[in-house]
Amino acid sequence: MQHFPIFIAVQNRQIVLSGGGAAAVAKLRLLMKTEAKIVTFAAKACDEIKTWAAQDRLQLVPRALSSGDVSGAVLFYAANENAAEDARAAKIAEAEGALINIVDNLAESQFITPAIVDRDPVTVAIGTEGAAPVLARAIKADIEAQLPTNLGILARIGKAFRDRTSALPYGRGRRDFWSDFYFRGGPRAFTKSGPEAVKTALSDLLDMHMSKTPRQGHVAFVGAGPGDPDLLTLRARRLLDHADVVLHDRLVTPEILELARREAHIIDVGKTGFGPATSQGDINAMLCVHALKGAQVVRLKGGDPTLFGRLDDEIDACDAQGIAWSIIPGITAASAAVASIGQSLTKRGRNAAVRFLSGQDINGFADHDWTLLARPNEIVALYMSTASARFIQGRLLMHGAAAETPITLVENASRPNERVVTTTLADLAQCHQTHAFEGPVLSLYGLLPRAAAPALQHILQRDLA
Ligand code: SAH
Repeated sequence: MQHFPIFIAVQNRQIVLSGGGAAAVAKLRLLMKTEAKIVTFAAKACDEIKTWAAQDRLQLVPRALSSGDVSGAVLFYAANENAAEDARAAKIAEAEGALINIVDNLAESQFITPAIVDRDPVTVAIGTEGAAPVLARAIKADIEAQLPTNLGILARIGKAFRDRTSALPYGRGRRDFWSDFYFRGGPRAFTKSGPEAVKTALSDLLDMHMSKTPRQGHVAFVGAGPGDPDLLTLRARRLLDHADVVLHDRLVTPEILELARREAHIIDVGKTGFGPATSQGDINAMLCVHALKGAQVVRLKGGDPTLFGRLDDEIDACDAQGIAWSIIPGITAASAAVASIGQSLTKRGRNAAVRFLSGQDINGFADHDWTLLARPNEIVALYMSTASARFIQGRLLMHGAAAETPITLVENASRPNERVVTTTLADLAQCHQTHAFEGPVLSLYGLLPRAAAPALQHILQRDLA
């Protein structure tokens, strides 16, 4: 981030602009939304600016900017559409202590003006650091469409009411009240009978929330999916948005944690610094402690929480304490990996069953029914199998699996650094060694990427025949 977004107090302070043409008009239009005193210097101003001056919406000084004109101003805009004049004016402004923006000159500007969605006092600022104005415009259009036009009025009425909400319990109690107001009661009252009705609705809503019994704690076991935030369920997003506490695994990506409510207490239980992973007992205890205090806890697990995620241990801990819980499914790594290579996990005439297999269990390398797995046309999604690759390879070969059986390894499935590597059973362990994967790897035994499949498929069929 080369530019840090902030909101500058401009009420009753001066903003100076130099320029009188189209670029000046565009900036002035934005600036006139503020409560700043706007002064425009232009030897030749267009009619629009003259009209605004006549309406007292800004002050127009009909000459070029000179020394002393910017003293005391907070912001300065050079909008002369002339590089030499902009540079001259900016030099004066800089000497007089204002922050400088030169229109269409990112390199020389000290600040940039974002695209703005205005629901005063709610303001959304969108910036792309000059990289993609088209994108900023598209995002602005999207947000404009999402935010009701009366949001600003609701926010203003709400702000005046803030003091009275101190009667509600701090934290969740107040949040629930405001969320009820902005997303339900407020808009409903406004549509029905306008701003006065909104004030009455606020009082009624407060009475209702005051008489509510405090909310019980809850633990949601939420599938975070393979890493791409787009692959979260809507319910997962909503729960993250309301969470008081988020306990997450190492597999959960920072992009997904970004979606958690800003005030949420986020705890990494995957690993603690360079130390060992948090023990299962400690995780169980943490879940319960927070839920018993009434917190809405999100236990965020990579992929789907019901697959290789110690889910039952945590559910048992909740049950033992009488804590309510729910499970929110997620997209498992195998689904993401197989989608990446354009294949199916099952296919008519090839396999009517697919196995999700872990390379590890509590005793170390996990044992399986190798004879069954070694049969032709078996498709297996191998989880946690990097350390046990040589063991799995040996067992399968020993039980008669074809050495040429294809295997596709997908590292960091669905993430920007995803990597797909193909190998065969004969080379599985070697392949892990060569590539020294650092991210999580899901191996698809019996599958090749669709594009690569035909050539190897006939070898496979010949050998299996
Ligand atoms: N509950 C998870 C699995 C947890 S076990 C799920 O449903 O996906 C951890 C293993 O999952 C890792 O060792 C790796 O084999 C696999 N895995 C998880 N996320 C992955 C990803 N983005 N890409 C590849 N493999 C992944």
